[in-house]
Amino acid sequence: MPDKTFLNWPFFEQRHRDLAAKLDAWAAENLGHIDHRDTDAACRAIVTALGRDGWLLYSAPDPADPAAKLDVRTLALIRETLARHDGLADFAFAMQGLGAGPISLFGTSDQRCTWLSSTRGGDAISAFALSEPASGSDVANITTSARRDGDDYVIDGEKTWISNGGIADVYVVFARTGEGPGAKGLSAFIVPGDAKGLEIAERIVVIAPHPLARIRFDKCRVPASSMIGKPGEGFKIAMATLDVFRSTVGAAALGFARRALDAAADRSANRHLFGAPLGNLQMVQGHLADMAVDVDASALLIYRAAWAKDQGAPRITREAAMAKLYATEAAQRVIDAAVQLHGGDGVRSGHPVEMLYREIRALRIYEGASDVQKVVIARSLAAS
Ligand SMILES: Cc1cc2nc3c(=O)[nH]c(=O)nc-3n(C[C@H](O)[C@H](O)[C@H](O)COP(=O)(O)OP(=O)(O)OC[C@H]3O[C@@H](n4cnc5c(N)ncnc54)[C@H](O)[C@@H]3O)c2cc1C
Repeated sequence: MPDKTFLNWPFFEQRHRDLAAKLDAWAAENLGHIDHRDTDAACRAIVTALGRDGWLLYSAPDPADPAAKLDVRTLALIRETLARHDGLADFAFAMQGLGAGPISLFGTSDQRCTWLSSTRGGDAISAFALSEPASGSDVANITTSARRDGDDYVIDGEKTWISNGGIADVYVVFARTGEGPGAKGLSAFIVPGDAKGLEIAERIVVIAPHPLARIRFDKCRVPASSMIGKPGEGFKIAMATLDVFRSTVGAAALGFARRALDAAADRSANRHLFGAPLGNLQMVQGHLADMAVDVDASALLIYRAAWAKDQGAPRITREAAMAKLYATEAAQRVIDAAVQLHGGDGVRSGHPVEMLYREIRALRIYEGASDVQKVVIARSLAAS
């Protein structure tokens, strides 16, 4: 049984506690039946179920209400809870939020009404297309171009590592429009998944399967009205979106870590060695204590960042970087210890801790690798 005492921390309101309990029960009831052998089909089925039962309403603000905002504590709690039950369910929810994030934060009323109604209902799957073969960490180096042609923009280039690539109905694409050098010359566009000139160049298979692709744009024409924000604002839009969602990557890692800690505690109580439970060995107790501290420290950093954003902080770059860095690295340690305490079973294909071991790894790389988060934190120290 995962520890829920953190929900009593002052970061949360009663609505958060109610939501966490309701989602936990929903996930236990609904996620176990989904067949994961076909990753695309499983992801679509999860998005449909999350949309049908109203969970995706939290992934983006209500387009009918101009004052509606994302609640980052809610996003983080949902990700933590879903990740504890099923990594693909967390992925499906997270991408509905991140993919539509630039529209949620910077879209016009028309853009929000057109797209958010569909992504919040589970009727459209969304994707966030920033990375390119030569610019992952080095975002300012994007070469995909968008050239103005009358009332349209024409997009050419390649994006890679795009989550939901191949199944998305809408992509937010960052491309060079040339208003200035480097980061100053990028803009963001809404591109429908069936746009002419958008093709899936490669489906990428990773150690914890989820839909992922390299995408090619070949004279892909979109109306100028599909630009989000103003020309040249693409970098700002991408960074502000990541600012909101980065701490929630930490929350997903926390969900994985809680599951691993539960499994390890269970194993320590029920596995008998040398005539006594495994947990009677002091070195095992040491592992469990380290894991518990890592879990609580992660939760404190994540919900501190989410709370700060919800209180109206314009940017939480340092707090979000700390939360993502610490929680993903800590989850890797916690899961590794859980694998160790399971002995041979820990590396058996399909065992929950073996799945967590594969699931956690990419979180230390995407949305800014751990090394990049350290640079961000150090720069914020220098700036202050
Ligand atoms: C599973 C998965 C899903 C993804 N989903 C998406 C998505 O939906 N949309 C999207 O746009 N992108 C996505 N990405 C791309 C992801 O954001 C990039 O992989 C990431 O930013 C790293 O870029 P890169 O792979 O080009 O590695 P590189 O930029 O080549 O970096 C390699 C390594 O170099 C080190 N490094 C880099 N910069 C620094 C620095 N400044 N200081 C010190 N060390 C550094 C880090 O260890 C880093 O891991 C996804 C990636 C993965 C693995």
